[in-house]
Amino acid sequence: MDLRDILIKKPEWLRIKAPPDNNYVHVKQTLSTFNLDTVWQEARCPSIAECWGSGTATIMIMGDLCTRHCRFCAVKTGYKPVLPDPTEPFKVARAIKEWGLKYAVITSVCRDDMDEGGASYISNTVKAIKMLCPKTIVEPLIPDLQGNVSSLEKIVSSKPEVISHNIETVLRLSPKIRDGRASYSQSLRVLRKIKEFNSEFSRNHP
Ligand code: SF4
Repeated sequence: MDLRDILIKKPEWLRIKAPPDNNYVHVKQTLSTFNLDTVWQEARCPSIAECWGSGTATIMIMGDLCTRHCRFCAVKTGYKPVLPDPTEPFKVARAIKEWGLKYAVITSVCRDDMDEGGASYISNTVKAIKMLCPKTIVEPLIPDLQGNVSSLEKIVSSKPEVISHNIETVLRLSPKIRDGRASYSQSLRVLRKIKEFNSEFSRNHP
């Protein structure tokens, strides 16, 4: 049995019921209206009730099928996911406006099958949110984009307030639990490059 099986068969104490709460219902209805995915649903996150209940949602873009296969992760995986809905960036922005979020986290599956890992798609989503909700702080939580520098540059130039990337685990466990295309050193390079691009971008666009 690998980690994925253990996670899917959650012990009873890890099962939390969604509260019949207005905010929770409102978030759920908006996600369904705009046909959006969230990381809580896709990754079977145990904090779903708490986060939805307080009117917070991390939206997952570019589909619900990841082209990688990390052993700890419950997100569905596949080699040929369908191309994402081109209007999704605007639907995400409309949902965030509807919720009146002050802080929005936009995460995604890994799309190694798409041009530049879907960097344009992520940056278009940030731009759409900025256009419709100029006061909302936006944090794209990005995949490693295979360390592609032009992809990273594209995301920095869409001007989100925060860019994050998840290293997931310590160096020793990285090759054991992450997909073979990810690595601890690549993730560090991604974070370093973002920092460099951001300093450069801020100098040129004060
Ligand atoms: S890349 Fe991210 S979404 Fe995809 S399987 Fe790994 S942890 Fe899950």
